[in-house]
Amino acid sequence: MRSRNINYRSMECTHCNTNVEGVDDRATGVICSECSPDLKRHVVYMNLPPDIIEKALADIRKKDQAKEDKRLNAKPRGWAFMNEFVDHDGRVYFKGKEQPTLKGTMEPSKIEKKKPTKKRKTKKERQKEIQKLAAELFDMKKKLTTKNLPNKDQKELQKEISVKQKLIHKLK
Ligand SMILES: [Zn+2]
Repeated sequence: MRSRNINYRSMECTHCNTNVEGVDDRATGVICSECSPDLKRHVVYMNLPPDIIEKALADIRKKDQAKEDKRLNAKPRGWAFMNEFVDHDGRVYFKGKEQPTLKGTMEPSKIEKKKPTKKRKTKKERQKEIQKLAAELFDMKKKLTTKNLPNKDQKELQKEISVKQKLIHKLK
């Protein structure tokens, strides 16, 4: 038996009203891929009881809301210690204490992302450091083989040697 030819049409997402292309024309509704990111594709529903669809949509809205709340509640580090901090919603705080009368009177504080301050060493700097470490390593190894060191000191020395070897390895 030949399967029926499916006809496609476009339909608005029940949740966000985006036009979704290629929806089976028997569909009674569709939820777009943006609204169902877990599935990474749009979801077509057919002849589902409205209460089930409503519940699915409510779940999506709840997730959206939770995401939005999280975003809105995110305050920068140390905001409570700032002399003045204006939140995205216009709430004004002086040293963490809200000033209700000032709400909406100031521009929200710009949150600057901390830039990484660590600068990578230049090749020359690294080579210089390697040379210094190698010289130290040489002395330590010499000490280890030529002197009658007590066991405890030998162990200490070996530990230091392996630390320096690791450092050299990292610099290479
Ligand atoms: Zn949608």
